[in-house]
Amino acid sequence: MNKNIHRVRKNVVVVGAGPAGCAASIACSRNGQHTVLIEKNSILGGMSTAGLVKPFMTSYVKDKKVIAGIFSEIVDRLRFYNGALGPLKCPYTENFNKRDVVIRSKDQTDTHGTGGYITLFDPEVLKYVLIEEIQRAGIELVLHSFLSDVTVENNRIKEIVTNTKSGTYIYEPDLVIDATGDGDVAALAGCRYVLGREEDRYCQPVSVMYTLGGIDADRVREYILQNRDQFEWLTFPEVKENIPPTFESKPFAGSGFFDIIAQAKKEEGLVFGRNQVTFFTDLRKGELTINATRVSGIDGTKVEDLTKAEIETRKQVFSLTGALRRSVPGFENCFILASSSTIGVRESRKIVGEYILTKEDVLNSKQFFDSICQGAFPVDIHDPVGEKGTWIELNDSYSIPYRCLITPEIDNLIIAGRCISTTHDAQASTRVMPTCIAIGQAAGTAAAIIRQQITKNVHNIEIKELQNRLQNQGAII
Ligand SMILES: Cc1cc2nc3c(=O)[nH]c(=O)nc-3n(C[C@H](O)[C@H](O)[C@H](O)COP(=O)(O)OP(=O)(O)OC[C@H]3O[C@@H](n4cnc5c(N)ncnc54)[C@H](O)[C@@H]3O)c2cc1C
Repeated sequence: MNKNIHRVRKNVVVVGAGPAGCAASIACSRNGQHTVLIEKNSILGGMSTAGLVKPFMTSYVKDKKVIAGIFSEIVDRLRFYNGALGPLKCPYTENFNKRDVVIRSKDQTDTHGTGGYITLFDPEVLKYVLIEEIQRAGIELVLHSFLSDVTVENNRIKEIVTNTKSGTYIYEPDLVIDATGDGDVAALAGCRYVLGREEDRYCQPVSVMYTLGGIDADRVREYILQNRDQFEWLTFPEVKENIPPTFESKPFAGSGFFDIIAQAKKEEGLVFGRNQVTFFTDLRKGELTINATRVSGIDGTKVEDLTKAEIETRKQVFSLTGALRRSVPGFENCFILASSSTIGVRESRKIVGEYILTKEDVLNSKQFFDSICQGAFPVDIHDPVGEKGTWIELNDSYSIPYRCLITPEIDNLIIAGRCISTTHDAQASTRVMPTCIAIGQAAGTAAAIIRQQITKNVHNIEIKELQNRLQNQGAII
């Protein structure tokens, strides 16, 4: 039995240092509250670094910028270190071989796979930039700490328990932000949640993201241009600025290689959970992000399922790379440069908050009185049971209400990131990284305001004050 128990009182504790948790802790600390950021990994960034998820999806709707604030600041710092390019506009000029269900009205342009703008970035630079920003904001960072328990008294989280090499830490916080992606804090505190689809609890499939090196991008570009019917979507993001000679000057992205995948499955025993491969040229020449491996039927909150998914997807990475190397011009000398150090979970728990954001809210571009940020990304559902997906374009941005970040059960808890209160369909839009950063900024700013109140109750916030602060600090609400 571990006898090293450390007990500490804290103002605000943020659990999870992914895009949402980093933004939340930066915002909270900048707004005057001592903030502790707890993370189980050794690095900051969650899916954006450990998950090798790139690029940042859109922060625009059509040509209107709708996400700024801390997201733009992070991109600026990345650019300062030659670690990002964009946001880049992604033009789509052709109708391709649509195999997913794609829904859009007549006046909507195609933004399949990106949402219209992408920001390419280097996760190695992001690891450093996030450390820099966290330290600049004066945050108390505690890595290698797994949140394992929570105690609740009088509708408030009394204790946050973490397990570490040096024993058990018990934090007694005034306020808690759950930015674990899976809603671990809220679930342990007894908050209601929905796992996956409302009707059958199936979640979007999980994937290991990976990066190929040794790609001859010119030859791949030539191949895809000559074989457009083999792709569901293709885009050639516009680079209108001078870039370093090491950067890919003619980026492209798309999804397909239909016949090659079908043939490799039939003739070579390709181990692969999809009928197509989604790819993005990276910042640097010769590198390609592959977003393709897939295992369905996984509950991202179950250790047995996570282990199975890690094993299955690693097999897919090897098998798929071999097939691409053998069959696609420009891939002949490619190699696996890096793969994510953890499985990518698109969807798990969605905490049931004071309001549940719906697909209709998203598609009707609903603006709420208690808006804390805008969502820009289309509804992108990777089919939880099959190989295909659904892509529904947006007419305009929609707002995310503060009520999606708080629960009826707990008075000192704010949720941030992909586990906020939404339906399965709405989460397929809110889950992308720029949106999670915007939600995080709002959660952290709200926590700082509430900490100064006598009741310290998330249900008693003055919404106008939160909105004014967010706007004054560069966010778009
Ligand atoms: C395969 C895949 C591809 C994607 N593609 C894109 C894309 O191209 N562009 C895009 O913008 N978005 C993409 N997304 C979505 C996006 O990456 C995530 O939804 C987003 O990162 C969620 O941010 P978050 O901060 O809520 O959670 P996460 O990024 O998951 O961060 C949560 C953090 O909490 C930590 N944590 C979790 N549990 C605990 C615990 N119990 N104790 C301590 N720490 C804990 C984790 O280690 C992690 O650091 C993709 C997602 C996946 C899975």
